[in-house]
Amino acid sequence: MKIILLGAPGSGKGTLAKKISRDFDIPQISTGDLFRAIVKESSPLANKVKEIMASGGLVPDEITIEMVKDRIAKPDCKKGFILDGFPRTVKQGEALATFSNIDTVILVELANEVIIDRLSSRRTCPNCGEIYSIEDNPEEICKKCNTPLIQRDDDKPDTIRHRLEVYDKNTSPLINFYSDRLFKVSSAGSPEETYSPVKAFLTKLEEKGE
Ligand SMILES: [Zn+2]
Repeated sequence: MKIILLGAPGSGKGTLAKKISRDFDIPQISTGDLFRAIVKESSPLANKVKEIMASGGLVPDEITIEMVKDRIAKPDCKKGFILDGFPRTVKQGEALATFSNIDTVILVELANEVIIDRLSSRRTCPNCGEIYSIEDNPEEICKKCNTPLIQRDDDKPDTIRHRLEVYDKNTSPLINFYSDRLFKVSSAGSPEETYSPVKAFLTKLEEKGE
């Protein structure tokens, strides 16, 4: 099964991807991971990426697309894959369609205000990196190393709001692009409640494909 996961930062998309990957035995592929992996390689493509990153430039679409194309051609993707964070734009979606036929696009939906609430209650230990929610740790002191917790800039409401605006702007056209294969799920409940309808849907889809 070839799956694309769409969802805003803080929507619980990553947790959902891990559950799908585990139960359906297909790898989760994120462009962030691809970039982290490729800089350790030494292929012509890897060298090109390293050069661009070293010069501080933005990696052009063609290269991101080529990386995804290479990755999904690997043997562990024979049964399928979950693309997380790609495509980000319709242009990338069109390119993807030239070399892979996506079975379904899962859209994880959560109201922006809920995302802002969830993310802005997050606190990080500046010493050991442990992450807490203020609900679970109202003292705001790290339970591992006793350091006072901080709120990262990424978890501040204004920053979150801006990231959500960028996400909405990029994703709305993609939702239209994939309207014929879209499966929507709300992540307002627990991670298990979010996963349950997705699992049922994918199980049916898998049976149909075999
Ligand atoms: Zn700590």
